[in-house]
Amino acid sequence: MAFSIDKIRQDFPLLLQAVKGRPVCYLDNAATAQKPQVVIDALTRFYTEQNANVHRGAYYLSQSATDAYEAARRRIAHFLNAASPSEIVFTRNATEAINLVAAAWGRTFLKAGDEIILSSLEHHANIVPWQLLAKEKDLIIKVIPLLASGDLDFEAYTQLFTAKTRFVAITAVSNTLGTVVPLESFISYAHANEVLVLVDACQAVPHFKVDIALWQPDFLVFTGHKLFGPNGIGVLYGRAALLSSMPPYQGGGGMIERVAFEETTFRAIPERFEAGTPAIADAIGLAVAIDYLAAQDTALLEQHEAALLRHGLMRLQAVPSLRILGNPTHQVPIVSFVMEGVHPHDLATYLDSVAICVRAGHHCTQPLMRCLGVQSTVRASFAFYNTFEEVDHLADTLLAAYQFFK
Ligand SMILES: *Cc1c(COP(=O)(O)O)cnc(C)c1O
Repeated sequence: MAFSIDKIRQDFPLLLQAVKGRPVCYLDNAATAQKPQVVIDALTRFYTEQNANVHRGAYYLSQSATDAYEAARRRIAHFLNAASPSEIVFTRNATEAINLVAAAWGRTFLKAGDEIILSSLEHHANIVPWQLLAKEKDLIIKVIPLLASGDLDFEAYTQLFTAKTRFVAITAVSNTLGTVVPLESFISYAHANEVLVLVDACQAVPHFKVDIALWQPDFLVFTGHKLFGPNGIGVLYGRAALLSSMPPYQGGGGMIERVAFEETTFRAIPERFEAGTPAIADAIGLAVAIDYLAAQDTALLEQHEAALLRHGLMRLQAVPSLRILGNPTHQVPIVSFVMEGVHPHDLATYLDSVAICVRAGHHCTQPLMRCLGVQSTVRASFAFYNTFEEVDHLADTLLAAYQFFK
């Protein structure tokens, strides 16, 4: 293979750390990804050389910080292939981006009896904001069922639509099963019924190209820290006409045109949705993470991830008493499993004893756990910087765990 995994790993200082005297085996990328040195350096450089508030000062530093912040917005618009940087709103994370849409769009445009469609695969972040809104506005939530494979049931989805359907909020990739949802069909079906769609792209952007022009979602969100960027920065994409039709989410500085006690008028998009001082350094850091990815041969990274997944599935299938959940048509390298008779937390603790970092629990997808008939799973989630040796280390340790717990 033409790319050197060792060279890539050198870019991620945390991957070179030892935990409990062993090289760390980081397989919890779906919870948060590690950051390349260039991202860490960008944060330090901003605070060392450029720190000032944006949009306010007439002085050089503030101009320079503003320029860098707006350049980051343009970089993200380009990354998503959005029509304009004004369609990119910086938020704290994906959760805040979804809450923004539920509050600003949902409260304004939905009324009692309207229906929202969610899927069985959703993260709590794409369920709870809609439930809060449904309670407040008397809306009805319908759920796309899951097939035994871990894919969504498209046929059943089409049957959920009625004259009252107004909105679909759906994930591009399951953070628990790794299922890649064939979004183009889901979105075009909704659009054919004049229904808007929000896409949760948190687990898609780290693994493959997400193209707004191709999917044509009305809203799309992702979170920076899972895309090798800093914590505390998220992105909301919204179609310009839609965002422009929405009232502010939060009020404060930075989002107003003119304030008087009688009446306040608001700025155009995207500033209307960025009340208060934004996470300037983190937005810049996220753009650097995207630059880092763009400088790689992404086709090779995707091939490597696919090979890791194939190897991982093969090795895990050979572990006695281990059951892998789902077998989706298309999958990113995220795998959930349970070992018969062993509590997922005990299994994760056993793996931790040899420096393997995996997640045990419900992965913020309790409704999906119910569909799968389990309380919790162990989840191993890989990034392009993971190695075949790490996959083998996981599988060998699971074999040892089987002997240990038997
Ligand atoms: C992590 C995740 C979220 C929430 O991201 P935050 O950074 O916690 O806001 C939402 N959806 C999916 C699919 C996720 O994996």
